[in-house]
Amino acid sequence: MSDTPGDPGPSDRYSRQRLYKQIGPAGQEKLGRARAILIGCGALGTVLAETLVRAGIGFLRIVDRDYVELNNLQRQVLFDEQDAADGAPKAVSAAKHLDRINSAVTVEPVVADAHAGNVESLAERVDLILDGTDNFETRYLINDVAVKHGIPWVYGACVGAEGMVMPIIPRQTPCLRCVFDQPPPPGTGPTCDTAGVLGSIVQIVAGLQATAALKILTGRAGELTGRLIQVDAWDWAFHEFDMQPALRQGRCVCCRDGRYDYLSGQQASRTVTLCGRNAVQIRPASDSTIDLAEVAARVKTAAKSSPKCNRYLLRFEVDHYQITLFQDGRAIIKGAKGADEGRSVYAKYIGA
Ligand SMILES: [Zn+2]
Repeated sequence: MSDTPGDPGPSDRYSRQRLYKQIGPAGQEKLGRARAILIGCGALGTVLAETLVRAGIGFLRIVDRDYVELNNLQRQVLFDEQDAADGAPKAVSAAKHLDRINSAVTVEPVVADAHAGNVESLAERVDLILDGTDNFETRYLINDVAVKHGIPWVYGACVGAEGMVMPIIPRQTPCLRCVFDQPPPPGTGPTCDTAGVLGSIVQIVAGLQATAALKILTGRAGELTGRLIQVDAWDWAFHEFDMQPALRQGRCVCCRDGRYDYLSGQQASRTVTLCGRNAVQIRPASDSTIDLAEVAARVKTAAKSSPKCNRYLLRFEVDHYQITLFQDGRAIIKGAKGADEGRSVYAKYIGA
C-alpha cells in the first residue's frame, strides 16, 4: 500500500524514511536485510516491534513468556481488547498485528522465557538484540550473550515517569556490567506493577531505543558512543551521562575477562516447581537480605488485601497468586503453573 495518495506504489512504502539522508536508499536496503531479536514484548517491546516493522526491518524474532491482560492496554500499543479477552500469548498476538501492518517483514513469535539454557540459540544469526524485558536478571543475561558473540544490544527500562536508555556495541562502548557491575538486589526497587508506569515514558524510551536500533541496522553503529540517557517525562527532564570512560578503565569482568556469569548459570535465579502445591519457588541468584517492610509498602496498592508481614516473611495476594517472600529473597508463588510464570510474577511484584 502506498503511504499517501500520489505515491507510485508499494515500492514507495519507505519513501519518507529513504528521504532522510542519514538512512537513504543504501540504509533502507541494509535495514531490509537486517535481523533482530526482541526479548520481552510488553510496553517497550510493543513500541519497538511496531516501529521497526513499520520501518522495514527484514526479520524480527519476538520472545515473550506472558499473556495479554486488560491492564496492559494503557501502554502496550500492539494489543487490543480482544487479545486481552482471549488471554493470547503476547508474542503470538504481536506477530498477528504486525503482519497486518507490514506483511513483507518476517516476524517469528516465540512463546518462552529467555534463560541461560536457550538464549544463545535464540540470538543466533541476529544483528541486534532489543531489550524489552522487565527484569535485571534477563538484562544481564542479554549482556553476556551480546558481549560473548559481539552482538550490539540496546538497553531500555522505565517505571513511573522515568526511564533510561543505553546502546551497547560490544568492545566499542561500555557494556551493562562496565556501568553497573551488579544488578540491584531483588526487592530493592520499584516495578511497574507496584509503582505504576505512564504510557508516555514508554514511548520516549522505546523511541530512543528504536532510533539506536535504526543506526545500528543501517550500518551506523560506529557513530554510537557510551551515552546513557535518563529521562523524567513528568518533569520534562533529560540527563545525559558519558559512560565511555567505564570501558577505558577496563575493570569489567565481562568485557575484560570474558566471564559470563549469567550465561553460565552461576548468577541465574533458581526456580523449583513444588509438586502438588500448584506453587513455584524462586530463589534469587545472589544471597541478599530483603527489607520485607519496604516491599510490603510498595505492593500495598497492588495487593488484594493488606500484606501480612513479620520479621521472617511477607505474604500478600495479587491477581490469583499468593506470594510468600522470605528475608533471603526466596519466594513461594502459589497459583503459578510453572517456572516461567513464577519468574514473571517475581519480576513484577518483587522486582529482580
Ligand atoms: Zn563490560
